[in-house]
Amino acid sequence: MPSRILANFLNENLEALKKQGLYNVIDPLEGANGPVIQIAGKPFINLSSNNYLGLATDKRLIEASIEATKKYGVGAGAVRTINGTQTAHVELEEKLAEFKHTEAAIAFQSGFNCNMGAISAVMDQHDAILSDELNHASIIDGCRLSRAKVIRYNHSDMADLRHKAQEAKASGLYQKIMVITDGVFSMDGDIAKLPEIVKIAEAFDLITYVDDAHGSGVLGEGAGTVKHFGLSDRIDFQIGTLSKAIGVVGGYVAGKRDLVDWLKVRSRPFLFSTSLTPGSAAACVKAIEILLESNELQKRLWENGDYLKNGLKQLGFNIGQSETPITPCIIGEEVLTQNFSKQLYADGVYAKAIVFPTVPKGTGRIRNMPTAAHTREMLDEALSVYEKVGKALKII
Ligand code: PMP
Repeated sequence: MPSRILANFLNENLEALKKQGLYNVIDPLEGANGPVIQIAGKPFINLSSNNYLGLATDKRLIEASIEATKKYGVGAGAVRTINGTQTAHVELEEKLAEFKHTEAAIAFQSGFNCNMGAISAVMDQHDAILSDELNHASIIDGCRLSRAKVIRYNHSDMADLRHKAQEAKASGLYQKIMVITDGVFSMDGDIAKLPEIVKIAEAFDLITYVDDAHGSGVLGEGAGTVKHFGLSDRIDFQIGTLSKAIGVVGGYVAGKRDLVDWLKVRSRPFLFSTSLTPGSAAACVKAIEILLESNELQKRLWENGDYLKNGLKQLGFNIGQSETPITPCIIGEEVLTQNFSKQLYADGVYAKAIVFPTVPKGTGRIRNMPTAAHTREMLDEALSVYEKVGKALKII
């Protein structure tokens, strides 16, 4: 007999979310996640993917994936430490270390997995973690899993970080202290103040951990935020995802050889969850090779980002303080934000509303993610729809 308590719990909570405009409907794409997508037979200009460089549909990656799939099969067949390590995984890890300018790297099945596995492999209940208040959900969950004391500091507030680092150190309560930050903050597009974070870390002997999911392939000639600031040899953990600029799926930690060796024996998703598919690993290798060869895609991404930002700003929208191609358009109230997104959708622009709990209450936004694959015509079309909807909803 199914549980009535569960049925009531689900029904009440789902209804409440729907009333508050906080229930996200999932629309399946009838094809690839490119600059134009198709949903229910209708095309949309896509401003919601993380496929920054357009590599998710790149023929060279598709070929690499097919070739590897033919050679290795569709699945790795086991966890990495039993016999799920194929040479495709080793090649990927070598390529990642080259890409990130580190001694070694370890690949995971996703960026989320990576944060869950990497933090808890090193930190425990005798430790403390200083975490930016706007860090990604996977960092928050990874920190919780570690059982370390989590001390949140105000977003990118270096005085607050310094003060809290000093206090934690002086307390004598903790064996290890880590500072952890996104490299680029995904909801606002601002860049972490890594040079100052490194100075504070060096002053108080902190372990440094940067999740560069949104900076890799975008900043630092593709190598990411750490390289952008010239700090490759001063950050302990460089975390990333292979699902955004790289266009595939997976996550990784790049760092010193000993760190990688330790994660290989202690990180639970690596030990207990089946490896990344070999086709994905090979496609990622190809993507990194493309990034190492040329900055062309990155250049196009930034040009498109600037174009969309200037267009929205000129129309009178609040685009926040983004320093990267991520272009938020801040609407505010949740129901209004959802309405805005629905109107964009009705006019052929797919740009999802991001609302609480992903961002704080009252700061609902449409997060636009222009990519290297968008044409000027697509961006112009999106801007004209923005103008129409903005005026209709009296936002501009
Ligand atoms: N970290 C950050 C900062 C992210 O934005 C994301 C993706 N939303 C992740 C980690 C998780 O990456 P993945 O999608 O590869 O699991």
